[in-house]
Amino acid sequence: MIRVIGFDLDDTLWAIEPVIRRANRVLFDWLQARYPRITHGHTPESLHALCIEYMRARPGQRHDLTTLRKSFLRHLGHEAAYAEDFAEEAFAVFYAARNTVEPFPEVEGVLAALARRHVLVALSNGNACIERVGLARYFRLAVNSAEAGAGKPDPRMFHLALERLGESAEAMVHVGDHPEHDVLGARNAGVRAIWVNRMGASFPGHIPAPWGIINNLTQLPPLLAMKAG
Ligand SMILES: [Mg+2]
Repeated sequence: MIRVIGFDLDDTLWAIEPVIRRANRVLFDWLQARYPRITHGHTPESLHALCIEYMRARPGQRHDLTTLRKSFLRHLGHEAAYAEDFAEEAFAVFYAARNTVEPFPEVEGVLAALARRHVLVALSNGNACIERVGLARYFRLAVNSAEAGAGKPDPRMFHLALERLGESAEAMVHVGDHPEHDVLGARNAGVRAIWVNRMGASFPGHIPAPWGIINNLTQLPPLLAMKAG
């Protein structure tokens, strides 16, 4: 009996690449207008590349992107010899844009239908906010890697969600686009996984096969019905 359905967010409910690209542009414009020594000689892309490099050098903090991005912003301010700390304000600018997403067309209808019979929970390695994104009404709970202390495929995020819901791993399936984070992560927690393969990729051979595979979320309710029957 499946009572709980976990959903990854980025690239499962919306495409993240255009969102981050736009958020980087918005942040860049904001910095350029107020702290031009930071953006001098940079493009949004080169500043983003610097951010990625900064994050890669700190793998121990990778699960907490909010803290990491704020510390990167403080670092930029320091390097450009700005005395004031604008990291919180700059992060708020980025974060508003990062949560301006366009869900894939079928997402809201499927979430609404599934939420009538199941408990939906969001499990993300990123820092999206389902309230700001506008999908909170479908979810009982949202857990991210910063709260769990580790990102998927570590099982802690699943354990935390199940503990908060008072449910067991057998009562849950998890739906996500990432073979390692979502499929292997769920398996590490004893949770069945459904892989969302929107791009027609082949599933990596080194990861145990998922419980189910779908190309988009419209296939999820019939798959769950079939598996239950
Ligand atoms: Mg994802």
